[in-house]
Amino acid sequence: MVRIKAREALDLQRAYFQQLFENSPAGIVMLDDHDIVLNANIAFENIFQYSIDELRGRNVKDWIVPESHLEESRELTTATYRRQVVQKETVRKRKDGSLVNVSITAYPIIIEDNLVGVYGMYVDITGRKKLEEHLREAQKMESLGTLAGGIAHDFNNILAIILGHASMVEKKQREPGRLMQSVEAINKATQRGTGLVKQLLTFARKSEVLLESVQLNEIVNEIVKLMAETFPKTITVSAQLEKNLPSIIGDANQIHQVLLNLCVNARDAMPRGGTMHLTTELVDGTLVSANFPKASAMEYVRVSVSDTGLGMDNTTRSRIFEPFFTTKERGKGTGLGLAVVYGIIENHRGFIEVESKVGEGTAFHFYLPIQHRGFESVEREDTLQKEIPGGTETILLVEDEELLRDLLKGVLIEKGYKVLAAVDGVEAVDLYASSHKKISLVLSDVGLPKLGGQEVLLQLKAIDPEVKIILASGYFEPNIKSQMQEAGANAFVQKPYIISEILQKIRYVLDND
Ligand code: ADP
Ligand code: MG
Repeated sequence: MVRIKAREALDLQRAYFQQLFENSPAGIVMLDDHDIVLNANIAFENIFQYSIDELRGRNVKDWIVPESHLEESRELTTATYRRQVVQKETVRKRKDGSLVNVSITAYPIIIEDNLVGVYGMYVDITGRKKLEEHLREAQKMESLGTLAGGIAHDFNNILAIILGHASMVEKKQREPGRLMQSVEAINKATQRGTGLVKQLLTFARKSEVLLESVQLNEIVNEIVKLMAETFPKTITVSAQLEKNLPSIIGDANQIHQVLLNLCVNARDAMPRGGTMHLTTELVDGTLVSANFPKASAMEYVRVSVSDTGLGMDNTTRSRIFEPFFTTKERGKGTGLGLAVVYGIIENHRGFIEVESKVGEGTAFHFYLPIQHRGFESVEREDTLQKEIPGGTETILLVEDEELLRDLLKGVLIEKGYKVLAAVDGVEAVDLYASSHKKISLVLSDVGLPKLGGQEVLLQLKAIDPEVKIILASGYFEPNIKSQMQEAGANAFVQKPYIISEILQKIRYVLDND
């Protein structure tokens, strides 16, 4: 009698669990310790369109894991075999080959401390994914709408100023003093428009970084001067710069843009005046990596811009880097400033952080890596460079700036070229005189110490009239350029160096007589 009761209780319990398994809204599959299907429920059949009879005894991976996700699936299995519970949103494959978004939770089955198998619960989340995507689209459209509105408003103001003053110019032809005022207003408005367009362009293609050796102190000084001239007198600007700050490799214009955006924001945060302070300092890489685990350079330059303005609450602070996020009134802010800042800093492999207190002020700090020897060029450019063919020829590289010389040398060697390097014009001519038989091409800066690039060109031609030479300069005076062309320069590159352009020109000159 007692035994019958116990059996009934057991049967009852088994029936409970059986029905729980069968009716669960989540697809459940039970596997042995080799991924072989022991059992699956109706929801599982419904998600994947296989009947349990088709699946039983088979390796589940062969059936529902798309090829592209085999590695991931292996990792999940390994984790469960290590007795972890794993949770993952991913994609799996139905019987008809179509993909399904699923959330997977997998548990190890352990009996008397032995792992005997795994059970996995699958929830179809295709609907949710679709909704998420719609939401993202909608948010993007909303942002674009805000942006377009802001820009249209700004441009309208700018055009109104230009138009207004242009018509005054017509009327004031005989009053030179007031005429000048209008011309000045037109100039300023045009500059504002140009600035706005520049921000938009930087934002639109934030991946293009030019590489040159940049002295951050110089840029900070320029900005300080600019602010002293243009900011209201109620704002005091001060700066404290580290002496002998090493150069960084980057894009001076873009870093200028970063500082300008930060400073303009600081100004806007101090409508009743205040103090702005800029600092530069050299910091150890370990200090930076404590806050930013991805930081891998040995040293960084830290630039800070602080103000005694309105400050921000946490909600604002958490959103400031979002494109188009602004708390400023319509037409005043585009919300692009800090998004641009973020993109630029990231492209320079740098980091940015912010401290702020409502009513007390805000400090932005950004960190840019100091490149030591052997560093690889900025990442985004790599993809471009990969497609440009290299070569095995020997190139004589003449560049007086050490950082740039090392950078170019590294890039050329990586492309297979052999490189001889000279630091000034005299050394270049000497090297060429002794080794011109094996040198296939010369890449030379024009502004060189001791002997300028133009003179180098003439002397190399005297040694070997067939010499192939590419000249680099920040600015080519048209007259001088045509003189150099006549003297036999094969190509010119504009500094700051764009690596992909140089590689292309080198190949072109080498391959064409
Ligand atoms: P915008 O200046 O066009 O609003 P930004 O991206 O430059 O766009 O800045 C986004 C927002 O971040 C600002 O609207 C403001 O709320 C906040 N913010 C940025 N810098 C400061 C600062 N120095 N002090 C207070 N708030 C700031
Ligand atoms: Mg701004």
